[in-house]
Amino acid sequence: MRILIVGAGPAGLYLAYLLKRQDATHHIRIVEQNVPDATFGFGVVFSDRALDFLRDDDEHTYELLLPAMQRWSDLALNHCGQRIVIDGIGFAAIGRLQLLQLLQQRLQSVGVTPEYRHALTDLAGLRGYDLVVAADGAHSFVRRQFEPAFGTQIELLDNRFAWYGTTRRFDTLSQTFVDTAFGPMNAHHYRYSEGMGTFIAECDAATWQRAGFADMDEATTRRIIETAFAETLGCHALVSNKSVWRQFPKIFNAHWSAGHVVLVGDALRTAHFSIGSGTRLAFEDVIALAKALRDEPDVPRALHAYEAARRPVVDKLVAAANRSAAWYEDFAAHMQLAPWDLAWSYIQRSGRIDLERLRLVSPRFVAGYQAARPDNRA
Ligand SMILES: Cc1cc2nc3c(=O)[nH]c(=O)nc-3n(C[C@H](O)[C@H](O)[C@H](O)COP(=O)(O)OP(=O)(O)OC[C@H]3O[C@@H](n4cnc5c(N)ncnc54)[C@H](O)[C@@H]3O)c2cc1C
Repeated sequence: MRILIVGAGPAGLYLAYLLKRQDATHHIRIVEQNVPDATFGFGVVFSDRALDFLRDDDEHTYELLLPAMQRWSDLALNHCGQRIVIDGIGFAAIGRLQLLQLLQQRLQSVGVTPEYRHALTDLAGLRGYDLVVAADGAHSFVRRQFEPAFGTQIELLDNRFAWYGTTRRFDTLSQTFVDTAFGPMNAHHYRYSEGMGTFIAECDAATWQRAGFADMDEATTRRIIETAFAETLGCHALVSNKSVWRQFPKIFNAHWSAGHVVLVGDALRTAHFSIGSGTRLAFEDVIALAKALRDEPDVPRALHAYEAARRPVVDKLVAAANRSAAWYEDFAAHMQLAPWDLAWSYIQRSGRIDLERLRLVSPRFVAGYQAARPDNRA
């Protein structure tokens, strides 16, 4: 089969590897607009079971990625000078660049080399293939060519976020809420290697306007954020990587394929970064797509099978991600709560978790909450 994969992010690289491993006769071409060691952002997290989904199908990749990950079992919320620890909510993190390099290595092992510095910019470039895979991220060029057929809907969240790195070493995944002269801000921060951490700063639109971030250069913006989070950062600076303010796009497609063109990863849908699942979803998409193509030789039928198998899981997770995003859109209001109440609201943000279940997962947190709020039966 002649296959074109557009984009060598996690979805594109891993799909190319899986398809070639599955059938060495496939002609796979993977094009990427950037150079091999370029990426946006810093580290990404996976939920506590980290890469368990990889273990069954692909132990080798699992074993390769695992040692590169930082792990922890609790998360922490910092609010009004108090640190509330929510035990049992574990995550594992990896540098995005390192992840890409390891996946490039896997792809090399089956003899496929991505064509870097090759941006796909016209429809003619999509012709002549049995299958075209849009793995080109949230702003997918491929998807934009067929939006009516995919039934694409994009909604921008109001909050602004900027994705930085820092050399400050954080113990665990943390959320820090601060009041600044311009209004409330929060940061999502965690380490992704021994020496580096991710630091995502976020604020609502009103705070962003008052601070004048719209007309501010990158260096001044960074300094203001460093000042706002001086206590959290210690003496460490923020590191920029095209770290400009963005609005998170919620992307939805009514149909996942159109003819022989199929969407995977962020090109298909986004999941708000507050639940740390976008990369895992991208991996799971391409695992499902590779299986569908293995089991069904007719491409359009295989693409429908991929959507049918995957859609229920994705819809459920995206609904949870959207509820989490909605909580963050209102984080200024949640900051009016006392620290324990904020933490309680936070833990329930993606869907109500009943007390008994939470007690099993986070016994210390539930005990702390009940001691602080003895009248609240939750
Ligand atoms: C602030 C933030 C924090 C995040 N944190 C996490 C997290 O903690 N955990 C997590 O799992 N996920 C996280 N994500 C989401 C995660 O980054 C994405 O879900 C994941 O990268 C999707 O992989 P992908 O391969 O589909 O797309 P991408 O990683 O976007 O890769 C797409 C690739 O396509 C290339 N490309 C684009 N257009 C073209 C073109 N026309 N021609 C050729 N190449 C092209 C791009 O250069 C890029 O390399 C976060 C996202 C954001 C914004």
